[in-house]
Amino acid sequence: MKIIIHGGFFSESTTNQETKVAKQQALLRIVKDSYQFLQTHTAIETVVFAVSQLEDDALFNAGIGSQIQSDGKIRMSASLMDGTTQKFSGVINIEQVKNPIHVAHVLMNVDDRVLGGEGAIAFARDHGFKIFSTETPQRKEEYEAKVKSNGQGTVGCVVLDKEGKLAVATSTGGKGFEIVGRVSDSATVAGNYVNEFCGVSLTGVGEDIVSNATAAKIVTRVTDGFTLQGAFEKTFEELKPYDGFAGAIGIDNKGNMFHQDSHPNMVFASFDGEKEEVFV
Ligand code: ASP
Repeated sequence: MKIIIHGGFFSESTTNQETKVAKQQALLRIVKDSYQFLQTHTAIETVVFAVSQLEDDALFNAGIGSQIQSDGKIRMSASLMDGTTQKFSGVINIEQVKNPIHVAHVLMNVDDRVLGGEGAIAFARDHGFKIFSTETPQRKEEYEAKVKSNGQGTVGCVVLDKEGKLAVATSTGGKGFEIVGRVSDSATVAGNYVNEFCGVSLTGVGEDIVSNATAAKIVTRVTDGFTLQGAFEKTFEELKPYDGFAGAIGIDNKGNMFHQDSHPNMVFASFDGEKEEVFV
């Protein structure tokens, strides 16, 4: 059993040492709690559990603590994918729910599995998700000061369970100050993808990640015989011509874990029951 999570990017210029330590501690706590949860749950249940914990922590830009868009509203996106059934479900630009990943999880069992905007909000209300504001005073202050904290804090998780099954989930509050209607990569196959061979979750600038089809490409390369590390390296090489900004975590079905970023300081943690690793 393996689990790796990320909490987006970390910018030394906009974040202090105290926040860095807090993020390290939060990621280690959540990766270990999720590993414990994995003892008695499936890969898909565990990625939802881990990402909902990350959404509930205001340190990260997903769920509570999501960034505010140019019109002053928060719109969030989240998706999950089951490597065994190959089903992908997600919500794009959903508003006023505490855990977008839980709405995406409900959609796993619906024919129309990716919903956006008003439709996603209506679906959530119909399924008992109460109105909940995920705005925090800090995000409001940043918005009012018009400080653009570029692409930080999206969350994601990849899990390999005891039956050898893989699943991924990713959740974001977006880039901050985006044009209303902008679509993040986090609920697309560029930002979140898995099959029976490999699973990958992304953070970074959504436009760069979609241009590179990053998660789907890494997974396809592993499926076709690349090593996990080889697939990451080749795919990240392909971001270079346009200086693509991305960070990714992944696990293959042999239990290898890997992470890479094109700009330093993606924050992540992994755990396999014995060895823990956290970003430094
Ligand atoms: N990928 C997210 C987006 O573009 C932002 C992030 O990862 O922080 O919406």
